[in-house]
Amino acid sequence: MVLFGPAGNSDSFYAEGYENTLSAAEWIKQQGLDIYEYSFGRGYRMSLDTAKIIGDEFKKNNIEISVHAPYFINFATQDKDLLAKTFNYIETGIKFLRAFGCSRLIFHPGSMGDQTREEAFILAKNRIGEFVNMLDSQKLLDGIYLCPETMGKSKQIGTYQEILEICALNKHLLPTFDFGHINALTQGALKSKKDYIKIFTKSLETIGTQRTQNCHIHFSKIQYSNKGEVKHLTFDDNIYGPDFLPLCEALIQLDLSPHIICESSGTMAEDAKKMKEIYLKTLGK
Ligand SMILES: [Zn+2]
Repeated sequence: MVLFGPAGNSDSFYAEGYENTLSAAEWIKQQGLDIYEYSFGRGYRMSLDTAKIIGDEFKKNNIEISVHAPYFINFATQDKDLLAKTFNYIETGIKFLRAFGCSRLIFHPGSMGDQTREEAFILAKNRIGEFVNMLDSQKLLDGIYLCPETMGKSKQIGTYQEILEICALNKHLLPTFDFGHINALTQGALKSKKDYIKIFTKSLETIGTQRTQNCHIHFSKIQYSNKGEVKHLTFDDNIYGPDFLPLCEALIQLDLSPHIICESSGTMAEDAKKMKEIYLKTLGK
């Protein structure tokens, strides 16, 4: 079963008078959606006690949460302070997963800075591998997936090939395929079912069936320039893409059951619903 849900709260959620994430669980269930991504992009501004209360509310409504770690994470950094913080952001994220009672922590691997792409990638990959193996050996990752994300800007680490190479290092690493990012980085290359099949085939070859089937997906239309991602759009866009239908057909052909989080600007729940409708309709054909 493919699961669908929004990243954060839609504009319509607030327009209907709801004020905080505690009410989001019931609202998402009413929309017929399955999952929800909570973003700590700008830092962990919540107590673990509050996370426990929110987690209980989501569990009551049978909506699974995933957590997005802070955007400041950079495993390729040359700055010792930022590197220490990077490790800390992941460790704190794991504490929030435990408090919410959920299993997926999504993170951006980092950016090149002044290094060559090759140097930055090798550095980030080695650090992630050592760190995750260390956490794993301490039994801190039981029931948990750390999910590095494919990125949309040319200076960021995270082509899908890089993400898969990183995920091959430990079974607790699960890819987050952000297809809006991949499309932005490749100047609109995601057009047909075979474009998605190619990515999933690489994933099957690199990390195997189980993690490919259960991978994490971000999907939204994203405006791009020659340097990649500019900004997130809504499903009303018909210039930049990508379109959901070819992905949907690839998921059905390969029998995949990912979690798909919609990151549209302001209409994330509405657009997640549109994807779920397209999926169910295509499945029924
Ligand atoms: Zn992200």
